[in-house]
Amino acid sequence: PRLFDRLEAQPSDSLLALIGLVKADTRPEKIDVGVGVYRDAAGGTPILRCVKAAEKILLETQETKAYLGSEGDARFTELIKPIVFGGQGARDDRIVGVQTPGGCGALRLGAELIRASGGGARVFVGQPTWPNHNPLIGAAGVEMVDYPYYDKASHTVLFDRMMGALEEARPGDLVLVHGCCHNPTGADLSLNQWRELADLIAARGIVPFVDLAYQGLGNGLEDDAAGTRLVVEAAEQALVAQSCDKNFGLYRERTGALFVKASSGEQANVVFGNLIGLARTMWSMPPDHGAAIVRTVLETPELEADWRAELKEMLARIRSLRARLATFDPRLAYIDEQNGMFSMLPLSPEAVVELRASHGIYMANSGRFNVAGLSDDNVDYFARAVVERLP
Ligand code: PMP
Repeated sequence: PRLFDRLEAQPSDSLLALIGLVKADTRPEKIDVGVGVYRDAAGGTPILRCVKAAEKILLETQETKAYLGSEGDARFTELIKPIVFGGQGARDDRIVGVQTPGGCGALRLGAELIRASGGGARVFVGQPTWPNHNPLIGAAGVEMVDYPYYDKASHTVLFDRMMGALEEARPGDLVLVHGCCHNPTGADLSLNQWRELADLIAARGIVPFVDLAYQGLGNGLEDDAAGTRLVVEAAEQALVAQSCDKNFGLYRERTGALFVKASSGEQANVVFGNLIGLARTMWSMPPDHGAAIVRTVLETPELEADWRAELKEMLARIRSLRARLATFDPRLAYIDEQNGMFSMLPLSPEAVVELRASHGIYMANSGRFNVAGLSDDNVDYFARAVVERLP
């Protein structure tokens, strides 16, 4: 047989297929709540003003495109560190970071580090979770164990069952948690639940692996990092996969970082060297442009202020749409308790498909919808159609 004869055809990504369906629908009232990017009131995903300004500065002042090295833009990572960990965490020399190609790159690099560390550590992953977690982490050859996280019908976090499942974790096993704005459910842990989780992590020697892809889009930059900071402080060792692709609107620029906390500054240096070695085997060096933009924004006080204001605008839009859905019908009230771009509707797969034909409303088969895909003009139309189909 020839080299590629044994390859099997792959199923197409259902969310990408959804984009095609939306495009083909000619009804002006159609609503795209499928794809996971932020949209403004006009339905667009524009480049942030601060990003455009930073790009102009870079265009005029950047003097070289010479290689930076496998850690990427070290100043970028240094500037992101306090945003994620706060002032005290930023000064902690046990926490090291490298720039990665987006949050995906950070998750994969984290998985490679776990695998390279040996010892057969397992990663406990909530159900449901972002569908890319298992492929990204599993591809590194790391064993994954499910824990129950969320019940779609009652729209609640199954915290007791989650904690019960984590009792099975051995010291050195990891627990993957969404730092904020859980994808696909929007259901985050309360601060008290984070505290309980932090206590369990400390008591059992569990290693938190935090996926922080939406900081600032739930309840603001500080609130959205509170859980991450609690578990990282409680743990002797931790990983945080960070992304700027949503909160800077950089998506295709692939901008993120992996931070790792080790038990000492000395060990953190060893970890850093390993991260660089692992990155070299995958992408050698991360793409520069997105990180250079973020660095320029955060180094320029007016641009940083602009970024914070623009992020607040996005947040306010999401919060106001959530509040409006919640007041439309008591059965949608839970949506205002949830955070970020996504929530889930307890619709049957048949109802999800039927909504496409009857109303031109396009959401993922799971019932996940992107709140930011709505606008003040169509939120009631959306809510009415959805409520009629709730079980
Ligand atoms: N984690 C979660 C939960 C996500 O939803 C995403 C993006 N959809 C990512 C990580 C990765 O983001 P990116 O690689 O685009 O930075």
